[in-house]
Amino acid sequence: MGLFDKKTCAICGSQTGAILGLFGSELAGGEYLCPDCRKKCTPNPNLKFSKMTLDEVKADMAVAAANRQKGTSEFHSTLKIKNGAYRDRSFLDLDENHGWFMNTALNDGWVYSLDDIYFYTIELTTEKLAEGQTFYADTSRYPELPKCPDGCRITGASLKILLLENELGIDSLNLNLLTQSGDENEVRGAYACVHDFVEAMKEYRTAHRK
Ligand SMILES: [Zn+2]
Repeated sequence: MGLFDKKTCAICGSQTGAILGLFGSELAGGEYLCPDCRKKCTPNPNLKFSKMTLDEVKADMAVAAANRQKGTSEFHSTLKIKNGAYRDRSFLDLDENHGWFMNTALNDGWVYSLDDIYFYTIELTTEKLAEGQTFYADTSRYPELPKCPDGCRITGASLKILLLENELGIDSLNLNLLTQSGDENEVRGAYACVHDFVEAMKEYRTAHRK
């Protein structure tokens, strides 16, 4: 195959010129997969197209399409996890009846199962208060969440969710709950929203204990 050959996508049959063809992928059997069709695969970061057969790509696309279908026609939100102090930006959207959730921070539309969550934690970044600086964000209402060390202020908070092996091939989600300012209202809002998530998970697990 010459450098300037046109490439034909083995899935959709579209033809791509040599330069644009560089943005596609060559499969294990030498077939060409165009960038548009590649986007129809799961977000699994470990997909190695050069090692996949055409059938394996098709199987992955079927999983992705079924997941998309759940997201667009079956998902009914019962709880939005959001930081009210941060322009109401939503981080997670839960459908507790189906036991599903979406990462609305990324807004990528993929549907995950609540049953796939095996661990979640909140991680803080803090910095020492400069002289004369104050930080009063009262988080004592959330004793299960980490405290800001004395003499420090919170500059960042993220909710880390670790997942069991799942159809999308994603093993963790990292939701950044604060802007860079680490404003006190925002920090309180972040704690409240993680608390909402933790409570929802407890309730879901109690209701679905096997
Ligand atoms: Zn294609």
